[in-house]
Amino acid sequence: MSPARRLEGAPFASEIRERVAADVAEYRERHGYPPGLAVVVCGRSAPSMVYLERILKACAQVGIDGSTVDVPGEDAEAQALELAAAIHRLNDDPTVAGIIVQMPLPPGVGLRIVVDAIDPLKDIDGIHPLNAGLLRLGYEGFVPATAHAALEMIHRSGASIEGADAVVIGRSPVVGMPLAFMLTREHATLTVCHSRTRDLAAKVRQADIVVVAAGHPGLVTGDMLKPGAVVIDVGINVVDGRVVGDVDFHSAERVASAITPVPGGVGPLTNALLLSHLMRAAQRQDQATEHDGA
Ligand code: NAP
Repeated sequence: MSPARRLEGAPFASEIRERVAADVAEYRERHGYPPGLAVVVCGRSAPSMVYLERILKACAQVGIDGSTVDVPGEDAEAQALELAAAIHRLNDDPTVAGIIVQMPLPPGVGLRIVVDAIDPLKDIDGIHPLNAGLLRLGYEGFVPATAHAALEMIHRSGASIEGADAVVIGRSPVVGMPLAFMLTREHATLTVCHSRTRDLAAKVRQADIVVVAAGHPGLVTGDMLKPGAVVIDVGINVVDGRVVGDVDFHSAERVASAITPVPGGVGPLTNALLLSHLMRAAQRQDQATEHDGA
C-alpha cells in the first residue's frame, strides 16, 4: 500500500487566517479599534508559554489585539478568586471580544471557576455550559477549537463521515467529547474510548476514522488500523525533547489513507480556528448590541 497522504495544517490555517484578516480589517474600520482576544494565564508552565506565544503571534498576523492577563500567586484559593475576578473584568470590557484561559490550571484551581465566570458570548473555546449544551442539542454555539480542528481535518481528508465507523480515543470535555458530538451530528457511528476501554486495538481496527486525543505517545500503531483509515492525531507530547503525537506515525502511515503529522497537523489549524471563533464572537456581540438598541 502506498504511504498515507499527510494532512498538513499550515495550508488550511493560512486560508482561514486570510479570511479572518479581511473581517478584522472591516471590524476595525467600523469600530475604530480591532477586536481583542484576552488570554488569561494562571500560573506558568513551559508548554503553555510556548502555546501562548503562538497565539499572540497568530493574533498579530491578522490584526487582532491579543493580550495576556496574568493571575500570579502561590496560594490556590487566592488564585481562584483572582482568576474569577479577572474573567469578570474581561467580560465587562467592550474591547475584548473573546477570552481563553490557558490550560492546565495550577493544582487546586478547578475548571469550574472558569466555567462559572466566563461570558458565553466571549467563550470562544466553548467551555461554558451554554455552549456545551448548544453543541449537545445540535445548535450553533462556540465549540472547543481543538475539536473543531480535528473535525475540519477529517473534512479536508475527503473522507465521508456519514455512515462511517469512527473511534475517538479520549473523552475530555475539551477534545474527545465535543468531537464525538460533532461526528455524531454528521452521522458517523461513534465509539468513544478511554483509559478503561478493554481491547483498544479491536475498537480501533473496525474504524474508518480514528481520532486520538489521549496524551499518550505511541498509543496507536499501524497494526491496529483498518487499511485505508483516516487518522487524526491530536496528541501533543514531548519525548526526549521532541514533540510527538499519540500515533506511531511511521507504522501508521503505511496503513492509513490520510494522517495528520505532529507537529504541523491539528495544532496550526486549532490556532487559526480560534481566531475565526474570535471574529465570530465579535460579530455576534455587535448583533446583540444592535438588537438591544433596536
Ligand atoms: P485529558 O484531559 O488528559 O484527556 C485524555 C483522555 O485520554 C482521557 O479521556 C483519558 O481517559 C484518555 N486516555 C489516556 N490514556 C489512555 C489510554 N492509554 N488509552 C485510552 N485512553 C486514554 O487530555 P486532553 O486535554 O483531552 O488532551 C488530549 C491530548 O491532546 C493531549 O496530548 C494534549 O496535549 C493534546 N491537545 C492538543 C491540542 C492541539 O491543538 N493539537 C489542544 C489541546 C490538547 P480517562 O477519561 O479514562 O482518564
